[in-house]
Amino acid sequence: MSLTARDLLQKLANDAGLSYHTIARKVNRMMGKGMGFLESARAIAKEHGLSESKYRIDAEKIVKESEKILREDYTQTLMISAVLGQMVEARGKERFPAPAFFAFIEVLSRITDAPRDTKSETSTEIEDRTTRIIELMTTLVSVLCEWSEKGVVGVADDCPESLREMARAVFRKTKLLQGGLWTCISCGEIVNVKETKALMCANCDSSISRSNIHERYDHLTGRNRTGYGRTSSEKSED
Ligand SMILES: [Zn+2]
Repeated sequence: MSLTARDLLQKLANDAGLSYHTIARKVNRMMGKGMGFLESARAIAKEHGLSESKYRIDAEKIVKESEKILREDYTQTLMISAVLGQMVEARGKERFPAPAFFAFIEVLSRITDAPRDTKSETSTEIEDRTTRIIELMTTLVSVLCEWSEKGVVGVADDCPESLREMARAVFRKTKLLQGGLWTCISCGEIVNVKETKALMCANCDSSISRSNIHERYDHLTGRNRTGYGRTSSEKSED
């Protein structure tokens, strides 16, 4: 079983005797029409007379590897969170998709015990880990959620039971965002997306010094969090 979308496409490309780019372009086109990632990959496999069941992704393993990376070291996790937070607000090619970011927040909220610094990582190490997390999170949402041309439209049928709660949270937050609403990464309050600052509601933003990135991260991981992480009950929308 493959771990990331890239691994799976590479395997499919090899088996079908096509280049990685040809396969990736095909899958992108199919997904643009509303097919899911795995559904697209399997349709291509079928076209080439390959067994569809060979192309699977282990979502639970993705979560495990992500947790392992995020538990490694506090400073590193802090840096990764900061980069992703900027990327989700960016435009164009640099943009990190919001559903993938929501999945990241969900994984992050399971990590409350990242050790306060032990060693100092090189910037290359951190960059590598960040790239890996991006790849893992984009793959994760592509298999946990049901997609259409409008984006995430629900929880995937084959989403593992243990990750359904996470998939539901990603779906709910993505749906809110499509309606112009953002879930504050600190307190969980739902606010107008135009009124957010650094992914937080105005209240949380003003209560945290802009320069204090550590405090920001602590809010993100729920160290002082008041409302975030509630997945079954929602606050009202004002
Ligand atoms: Zn807030």
